[in-house]
Amino acid sequence: MPLDKLRQKMTAAQLDGFIVSQPENRRYLSGFTGSAGLLFITADEQYVLTDSRYYVQVEREAPDWTLLKASYRTAERLAELLDARQMSGATIGFEADHLTVAQWEVWKTDLPAELTLIPTTGFVGELRAVKTEAELAIIKRAQAVADEAMQYIYDWIQPGVTEKEVAWELEVYMRTHGASALSFETIVAAGANGALPHATPGNTVIQMGDVILIDMGCVVDGYCSDMTRTFSLGEPSNPQFTAVWDVVQAAVDAAVGGISAGMPGRAADALARNVIADAGFGDKFGHSLGHGVGLAIHELPIVSYARDNELCAGMVITIEPGIYLPGEFGIRLEDMAVVTDDGVEVFTRTPKIKVLPR
Ligand code: ZN
Ligand code: ZN
Repeated sequence: MPLDKLRQKMTAAQLDGFIVSQPENRRYLSGFTGSAGLLFITADEQYVLTDSRYYVQVEREAPDWTLLKASYRTAERLAELLDARQMSGATIGFEADHLTVAQWEVWKTDLPAELTLIPTTGFVGELRAVKTEAELAIIKRAQAVADEAMQYIYDWIQPGVTEKEVAWELEVYMRTHGASALSFETIVAAGANGALPHATPGNTVIQMGDVILIDMGCVVDGYCSDMTRTFSLGEPSNPQFTAVWDVVQAAVDAAVGGISAGMPGRAADALARNVIADAGFGDKFGHSLGHGVGLAIHELPIVSYARDNELCAGMVITIEPGIYLPGEFGIRLEDMAVVTDDGVEVFTRTPKIKVLPR
């Protein structure tokens, strides 16, 4: 139970209470999917504070939680509760990585002056990083919808369509085959546009021989999927393409073959990065190897040369090395995988096609 684990962390951190404001964390702990409100958790009680738009929803989605009917000024309602529970002088953790400065100013006014507020980062996010079997099953379903959509695009895409049209076809396919939303705005980038790792699809008309980078995913039952494929539409017009694609594929293979539980994210990142550096493209892979995926498209762990996140069994991560050659093209290949005790299980099913015959 996530809530039990959170209480263990609260005890270890000597917190009498914890305030959750981050929407995915709120949903993860309570089941409440509304877009506004706070959770307040003590050693033996749990509350949802929200406004009248959500009273019915809280009772339906979070039956084990006590609903505290609040106005838009939820901190005022929390102050009343703290007073009633004689907790006005308590030590309470909050999510410093989510609360805005403006909200903080309101809290300073509304919450008791003698309260000790302790900023935390990743407090709930660390729990979310390790998935239950039920969560994993949902994420796999979200990826299965994305796989089906990409397979559809492999058949559908032709020279003469625009990046935007490809993105729209993908979106319609996913939304009509089980997805409630996109995980993020789909990236479809042709030719040199692909050298921008997070390009926006535009009116560029896709030509025969173009390198096409597509990064996409969808939401099923609240959980996200994430995948990137890069291919040449017909025989590649750029003579560098084949060799560079092979390097990125080799980097994926090195990561998939080498990652296992207990490994620091930094070491996992290095497995792929060394392959790319050895091929002479070390300065063309600017981003991290991957990230956790769950209720949010980017969540813990961060699998990066710049972070110390340790990989544990049950974490769902992406493996997405890339090489970006400005003015030429970009290549990224991204799979989703779950970390296991002795390796990773990749559950992305879409084949990586280097040259899509046309
Ligand atoms: Zn992606
Ligand atoms: Zn990703």
